[in-house]
Amino acid sequence: LGKQFSMMVRTRIPGGRVTAEQFLAEIDLGDLLGEGTVRITTRQGFQLHGVPKGSLRETIRKINETKLTTFAACGDVSRNVMACPAPFKRDNVREEMQRMAFGLAELLRPQTKAYYDLWLRDDADPQNLKANLSDDPAEPVEPVYGEVYLPRKFKMGIALPEDNCIDVYTQDLGFLAIVEEGEIVGYNVLVGGGMGMTPAKSETFPALAKRMAYVTPDQVMQVATAVVKVQRDHGNRADRKQARMKYLIAKQGLEWFKAKVEEHFGASLPEPHPADVTDAPDHMGWNEQGDGNWFLGLNIENGRVADFENGPKWKTALRELLQTYGMEIRLTALQGAILCDIKPEDREDINAILKKHDIKQAAELSLVRRYSMACPALPMCGLAVTESERIFPTVIDDIEKRIAQYGLAGERITIHMTGCPNGCARPYTPDIGLVGKAKSRYTVYLGGNDIGTRLAYIYKDLVREEHVADVLSPALQYFKLARNDGETFGDFCARVGQEDIERYAKLLEQE
Ligand code: SF4
Repeated sequence: LGKQFSMMVRTRIPGGRVTAEQFLAEIDLGDLLGEGTVRITTRQGFQLHGVPKGSLRETIRKINETKLTTFAACGDVSRNVMACPAPFKRDNVREEMQRMAFGLAELLRPQTKAYYDLWLRDDADPQNLKANLSDDPAEPVEPVYGEVYLPRKFKMGIALPEDNCIDVYTQDLGFLAIVEEGEIVGYNVLVGGGMGMTPAKSETFPALAKRMAYVTPDQVMQVATAVVKVQRDHGNRADRKQARMKYLIAKQGLEWFKAKVEEHFGASLPEPHPADVTDAPDHMGWNEQGDGNWFLGLNIENGRVADFENGPKWKTALRELLQTYGMEIRLTALQGAILCDIKPEDREDINAILKKHDIKQAAELSLVRRYSMACPALPMCGLAVTESERIFPTVIDDIEKRIAQYGLAGERITIHMTGCPNGCARPYTPDIGLVGKAKSRYTVYLGGNDIGTRLAYIYKDLVREEHVADVLSPALQYFKLARNDGETFGDFCARVGQEDIERYAKLLEQE
């Protein structure tokens, strides 16, 4: 017998926006060709896990039939473009950001026909995919990527100062919209964010994006093109561990980088607008859209759309809701789903459907659970060194209990966990980061924040999974005792620092 391979199939969805039919089709595909679930990713996409290699072509074709695509969801190109998914309609701001996400995704979509030849051609030979590649001399040139594409993956996101739900500072290229009187008048351009690192290589590190310039809306596409071209021409192609744009900026400096962008753009760019990120809501629960209708944000733990034996029946509930109401869905950066355009008179029935399928709404969940997320890790991810998604609910149960015990249940404390340092669930910026370092052992980070604007520091290394809550307890108790008025947990940890928390932990031990 030959080896049996199973694959992950990721769908790229700019701004996380899908129709009811597309969501239903993805759930059906998970049942038909995957391992029976769909996962909403940390970048507002879908992932199917456990797709047998022999079913890849059928899966990709079926996704394309729904007018979604897996093209450029992976690879050394611009990946899924993130944008705030909240469907507020009191002005044009969110709609404009969504339009821009689609525009950027289109601008940087590779032009090659190879994807079509490999996966979509009716006459293609499924047994010999390589033979399907045409040697058509008319293969289009890549206007932005050129002949060599990018040195490494490239991530973009669009946010607002009061709504950084997509973690704009973790993107290679972020746009922070500046709004005046209900209109976007421009964007701060942030460059060089990125989460991945390799602990054994000290020259690798997570980085927040740097504030580079201010652009008007009509300059966005040109400036994005210019930034990508600078990374294309100057990014490190000799060492993949140094190939993300953050390393180019760290090596050459922001001034040099900006000058190169300006060369491509053809003019100098003004300094950023003083506005910066002030909040990062999760958009969960019932919210009025501003046009008479409502949206409902649903927290899907770790984005796993499944029918759990003794828990929520997500697939059944979503099938019933989407078949009945046919509403648009938006996928969130915390792996949730927003049901859009709900008539006020339908709210009660929708609540009843969710209750019938054991689904808890935001008001029934602790804040720490709402603002937490984990990457898939074992057994789904080949790069994982340890567990993440599978143990995360238990880890959160433990931490949730301590938080309630210390009277901190009203605090918004964010926790992101990953099964390796690559950081797919952005673990280096929240209040608490848990990063898999070895089997069942994690590096615990503290001192990030709940709005995604500060990097955390290492508080403890190689903590066993069953001790994570114990290790966090002194920090939580100290916070309760010594915080300033209105200070958040992350701000407190950043202010007092690792040594001071350790000192307090020792005092507690001696009591
Ligand atoms: Fe896999 Fe690591 Fe990414 Fe988790 S963080 S999904 S373990 S690569």
